[in-house]
Amino acid sequence: MDFLPIFFNVKARHAVIVGGGEVAARKAGLLLRAGARVTVQAPELAVTLADLVREGKVQYRPGRFDPAVLTDAALVIGATDDEEVNRQVHAAAVTRNLPVNVVDHPELCTFILPAIIDRSPVVIAVSSGGASPVLARLIRARLETLIPAAFGRLAVLAAGFRDKVKQRIQRPDRRRTFWEEVLDGRIAEMVFSGQDAAAGKVLEQKLAAEGASTKDVGEVYLIGGGPGDPDLLTFRALRLMQRADVVVYDRLVSPEVLDLVRREALRIYAGKERDHHVLPQESINQLLVRLAREGKRAVRLKGGDPFIFGRGGEEIETLMAEGIPFQVVPGITAAAGCAAYAGIPLTHRDYAQSVVFVTGHQKDGTVDLNWPALVQPQQTVVFYMGLQSIAIICRELIKHGLSDKTLAALVQQGTTRQQRVLTGTLATLPGIVEKSNVHAPTLIIVGDVVRLREKLRWFEPDAS
Ligand code: SAH
Repeated sequence: MDFLPIFFNVKARHAVIVGGGEVAARKAGLLLRAGARVTVQAPELAVTLADLVREGKVQYRPGRFDPAVLTDAALVIGATDDEEVNRQVHAAAVTRNLPVNVVDHPELCTFILPAIIDRSPVVIAVSSGGASPVLARLIRARLETLIPAAFGRLAVLAAGFRDKVKQRIQRPDRRRTFWEEVLDGRIAEMVFSGQDAAAGKVLEQKLAAEGASTKDVGEVYLIGGGPGDPDLLTFRALRLMQRADVVVYDRLVSPEVLDLVRREALRIYAGKERDHHVLPQESINQLLVRLAREGKRAVRLKGGDPFIFGRGGEEIETLMAEGIPFQVVPGITAAAGCAAYAGIPLTHRDYAQSVVFVTGHQKDGTVDLNWPALVQPQQTVVFYMGLQSIAIICRELIKHGLSDKTLAALVQQGTTRQQRVLTGTLATLPGIVEKSNVHAPTLIIVGDVVRLREKLRWFEPDAS
């Protein structure tokens, strides 16, 4: 280890920065966040620092470096591009036994500033010991995705209960288990989804019930798995998927996405081939309730977004009625994913000011849509589940006033390496489906925006 990692309390202490540019400004910002009193010495200041000085947040001592500025200082940072000054700063600091950092000069540093992940009061610091700051930053970026933004609030909640828990649970090992359950379970998830007060109540109850042999009820995460490309998952979706005891998934969930669920989790296929569901909706709802009652963390994983033609509403209605804790994680819906990967913006100032998502397949198997609403000018219409009814859809749109030359696109398995995009018009689309052996899942986009694809197509995966 080349450096000793420590966290330095600089509250109300005097930190000196030599240099007035943008790098100096960033260091000033960091020191201010940690509560230091900051003085900057430089012949002149760039905009950001000048603003901080004007707002009274930073003290300014105009002029070249003068060691007298170090009187009272707790630490000093050299951030000039003048090598001579940098060396002087280092020398003056060392004589005074002051911690010194000269930016980008490890040999002139007695301390270095790590890359940080700030979830105050939790702070994670990453250092490459000066060997490669970029590498440290890459590590930081990875950690950022793993640690929920609200981690700090969880720490605050825990701090508020620390003494109470200590009093009530005397055995240290039992106390540790208690905290593990809190910090890695439902209470933590409540904080992450913004319900801090409710989380506090549940923690209170858990503490009161401590020692009684109650079993924690599990919970259900209704997660949108996106249209196929696993990179399109949200951070929250990924985190919850990696905590699952069991996952109940639909046909639309891509194998690559399913692969990201915790290896040990039990996988239950809930089917949903059109019209012959492997598990009827009612038993899916009951299954989720049963799993949660058994204390499991159950992920209900759906293609796209759970609240867009995903029956997510019906599933959580049952959970709500049965008092099962749950949360809903949105996903990228097929329209957004397919449009982006096909190079077809759904709105455009010249071609479409509105966009409608509509299902081409209704509960009773008919296609009884509000056609007049779908043929409005300057509007993009996106059909989900429309492949079976493609002939009816095109016919009705024309019958209700759209030109048979209106452009339309079929996006099959959008966002995946198997993506196929076929374009035509309302007149030609049914023929294309037949001739080109188009199969589900396919999205239909109707409107003038389809012409933009010619210019904007960018995602052309190699056939695999
Ligand atoms: N909840 C999902 C939609 C479920 S309905 C969502 O928000 O995306 C199922 C329909 O979605 C399919 O019939 C198809 O029209 C569309 N779909 C879903 N994923 C798709 C994909 N990767 N490519 C093309 N269409 C897709």
